[in-house]
Amino acid sequence: NQQLYIRNFSIIAHIDHGKSTFADRIMELTLTVTNRELREQILDYMEVEREHGITVKSSTVRVYYEAGNQKEYQYNLIDTPGHVDFTYEVSKALAACEGVILLVDATQGIQAQTIANYKIAKSNNLVIMPVINKIDSENANVKETRHQIQKLMDIRSADILCISAKTGEGVMDVLEHIHAIIPPPLDRIEKPLKALVFDLQYDPYKGIIAYIRLFEGSLTKESTLLFMATNTFFQPLDIGVFSPHMQSTDSLSAGEVGYVITGLKKIQQVKIGDTLTLFNDPTNEQLVGYEESKSMVYAGLYPKDDRQTDFENAIYRLSLNDSSFQYQDEKSEVLGKGFRCGFLGMLHLQIVRERLEREFGVYVITTAPNVPYLVYMKDGTELWVNNPVYYPAFNQVKFVEEPISDVTITSPQEYIGDIMKLTTNRKGIFMDLSYQGEQAIIHYEMPTSEIAYDFFDQLKSFTRGYATMDVKFKKYEMANLVKMEIFINYIKIDALTFIVHREDAYRIASQLVLKLKYTIPRKLYPMPVQVNVEGKVIAREDVPPLRKNAAVSGEKKSISKKQALLRRQNINKRNSEHSMVELPQEVFNSILDIN
Ligand code: GDP
Ligand code: MG
Repeated sequence: NQQLYIRNFSIIAHIDHGKSTFADRIMELTLTVTNRELREQILDYMEVEREHGITVKSSTVRVYYEAGNQKEYQYNLIDTPGHVDFTYEVSKALAACEGVILLVDATQGIQAQTIANYKIAKSNNLVIMPVINKIDSENANVKETRHQIQKLMDIRSADILCISAKTGEGVMDVLEHIHAIIPPPLDRIEKPLKALVFDLQYDPYKGIIAYIRLFEGSLTKESTLLFMATNTFFQPLDIGVFSPHMQSTDSLSAGEVGYVITGLKKIQQVKIGDTLTLFNDPTNEQLVGYEESKSMVYAGLYPKDDRQTDFENAIYRLSLNDSSFQYQDEKSEVLGKGFRCGFLGMLHLQIVRERLEREFGVYVITTAPNVPYLVYMKDGTELWVNNPVYYPAFNQVKFVEEPISDVTITSPQEYIGDIMKLTTNRKGIFMDLSYQGEQAIIHYEMPTSEIAYDFFDQLKSFTRGYATMDVKFKKYEMANLVKMEIFINYIKIDALTFIVHREDAYRIASQLVLKLKYTIPRKLYPMPVQVNVEGKVIAREDVPPLRKNAAVSGEKKSISKKQALLRRQNINKRNSEHSMVELPQEVFNSILDIN
């Protein structure tokens, strides 16, 4: 039975603990890649991943390992992202596996995401193989790390392997243990095809490519296939495996991980989490698929130029590849047609923005992000608000609820005092404190709005980079909130509307008008910037006019500048009143810079 020689596993860990480097070593030692192909973090294909040095997408690779018992094993490994914003990617990958390798960096020990990923693996009933990494480093503390792992999970000290993913030391030993510790898939080949679609990619030439894990049955290039949720059938253009690049095969069968090139071009025809089966002999039970991801922050995305169709297509195609990215149509008086988009966090937002630029050549304006609110109206109705513009007038609101997060912070004990100070400033409520060796683990409940934007950076600077955190949605809770509306030159700018806690309103408004004073492009005349809350102006500054002498002073350069100005004035006269105000990205960032 060939399945006995297959192992499917993910590599999980806190960010930077060495997952991608470990995957490199496995590919090198199994001769999956040639020396010429080898570069660091080879599985981080995307430009944004290479630039930030982080994994954003899970990637899959098949390697063959010649074991000590003279048998050849097929290892399908999935490298996963470590950052909290991409936890959803991790849980998707785990549904395709029987086991995980949990890496722990010996120089850092167990961190917030180590615990979070461990819990996800455990709740998926996967076999967990802890491995200590970076033992080559002079800062490695293997004994302490071993101790922390043993406090986290029930395991004998001798069963915790140690490696250096950098030098390769110990990696062969891990490869030898994998087939003994992680079980083979128990999937049935003789049944009708049942495969999980765990990832999707859009290729402009080949159409949609589905990444699948086969749980039952098999398929060939000649099979007519059916996506069950969308009821779409098709003839594949090609099928195959990742080694690490796509490599065509004649068939795929139960237990294996591979790809199907569908040739389909409409994104509505395919869904992540769907079940793939045979059109003529379908399975009678669909796989459960995935829970929808819950967006933590929302922002409006608008095209920077007038390539509206390119912009919309880019959003659709990106969402196919990133199922935790959500969008719906939105219209703004100042910015035109765009989308209200949901993200798992600020890093996710930043990565989406950069992917739109790098992979699709589309440049966007993003409005200031906000969390979703649940508004209870006086007329008895309830309203979900993920765009502050639609937050109802204060005299129609009975009360409002905001999202509260469960925050886990790990840090060396000496920073506990500083962390307490920071979290109290951000309306955090202390829940409990425990220790894992030298490391403190602290739990808080905090309004999601207080942690969604810059909290992590603050935490890092308060703890000299040592603290790490994990965030999970916990509940909705009543909050005292107000809507801030911004007027520039007496015109309400809808895209700048946002929601704050009432107690912070004056402080934020007065800081904001000062920021806007210097970020809004100047005109020949002064422009008042006002913040309006519940019908009252609570802060005001004036954007100073362009200095006249700048436009008329003797230089040649200035003459054309003056002409440009006059031309712009003429254009503005012809346009609607809204286009009188220019809104570069910095204006929206001003809201974020306040704390
Ligand atoms: P990931 O975020 O878990 O995928 O981590 P990466 O594989 O991207 O590695 C993060 C950083 O740790 C990189 O700078 C690696 O070169 C470094 N690193 C990974 N493994 C080792 C190791 O065994 N020893 C040392 N000294 N550094 C390592
Ligand atoms: Mg990585």
